[in-house]
Amino acid sequence: MTAFSVRTPIIASDSASFEHEQVILVQDIASGLKAIVAIHSTSLGPALGGTRFQVYASDEEAVRDALNLSRGMSYKNALAGLDFGGGKAVIIGDPAKAKSEELLLAYGRFVASLGGRYLTACDVGTSVADMDVIARACRWTVSRSPEIGGVGDPSVPTAVGVLQGMRAAALHRWGTPSLQGRTVGIAGVGKVGHLLVKHLFEEGARLVVTDVREGPVRRVVEKFPHITVVNDTESLIRFKGLDVYAPCALGGVLDEAVVPVITAEVVCGSANNQLAHSGVEQHLADRGILYVPDYVVNAGGVIQAAGELSGLTPRQSAMKVERIFDTTLTVLEQAEADGILPSDAADRIAERRITASAEARVKKRRPLWKRQVGRGTGEP
Ligand code: NAD
Repeated sequence: MTAFSVRTPIIASDSASFEHEQVILVQDIASGLKAIVAIHSTSLGPALGGTRFQVYASDEEAVRDALNLSRGMSYKNALAGLDFGGGKAVIIGDPAKAKSEELLLAYGRFVASLGGRYLTACDVGTSVADMDVIARACRWTVSRSPEIGGVGDPSVPTAVGVLQGMRAAALHRWGTPSLQGRTVGIAGVGKVGHLLVKHLFEEGARLVVTDVREGPVRRVVEKFPHITVVNDTESLIRFKGLDVYAPCALGGVLDEAVVPVITAEVVCGSANNQLAHSGVEQHLADRGILYVPDYVVNAGGVIQAAGELSGLTPRQSAMKVERIFDTTLTVLEQAEADGILPSDAADRIAERRITASAEARVKKRRPLWKRQVGRGTGEP
């Protein structure tokens, strides 16, 4: 393991926009753990967000990712009506090589040392099985296996939420929430994407899919032989007659090169941070393409995780996930009424909730994250 090489100016240089409560560099030489925990806001409650495990070009890039993702979680949680703030952690390294029980337990001990200020769940590069290990060291761990009392795979409610968001977008754009007969292109048929294929198939949509890996494509084609497979995302976004483009792989996929060639009228998918930069959404709007902000529709996983923490029944959590339909519709209607972009409308709604809660906290003179949440045994 190489030691951290984060220049302190990384945060100072972004100081105009720096709004996080706490950013922590974590290192455990024995296990090779190198991680960053970013707590953006605890105004609404303890910071809740997943742990990402991936390779970064530099430590600075990892810090930036943690800063962006944790900020996104504050907005996502606020908009989903959850009483949780926003936080995110990144573990630096290739999960296929660096992940070990020792490392996950060391990470869990660190998260436990934050005393419930940050609660962790799965994200890219971490799984429910990993959460089970982390939970042995840290009771503030969610998305654990149902066998040990957790709610399991967050991809299941995430796919339901994306479907609900897509139905709301259809109602806003075409006057009916039905996706029957619509052609939906899904880029990335991994954990969320393949479940979305199933839901859309049941809705009567026509499907076009692509993935960079053969295995995930084979899995969906075996189950749904009539779907169309195209070679790459480039072919998918140019596909003639596409109604909806659903990015369900990586972030940053909507940029200046892509916008002019998108054939779909609606963009709605699970991938986090789809817009390569803020100006892209205006270009989409200029082309008459309705962009549904990713963090509005991909909140199903965190809604389920919050339900686990708050002691909701699976049915109660599922009903909250279904409400992504109403939230999406509110965002799109608000954007239209105010003549602003959907992301700006979503941000406004989230910010109103965060600000109101921060003001209430000041009045009560107590940090809301002191609320008791989390289960498990505590120390290993
Ligand atoms: P995943 O890794 O299981 O699936 C992603 C799939 O995309 C993989 O099959 C991969 O091969 C494919 N892919 C990668 N690059 C691609 C490319 N350039 N073109 C086409 N396909 C490509 O991940 P997931 O859990 O399904 O998550 C998908 C996206 O949704 C991610 O951006 C994730 O951050 C976001 N998200 C997931 C959840 C969740 O609950 N899993 C929740 C919120 C947001």
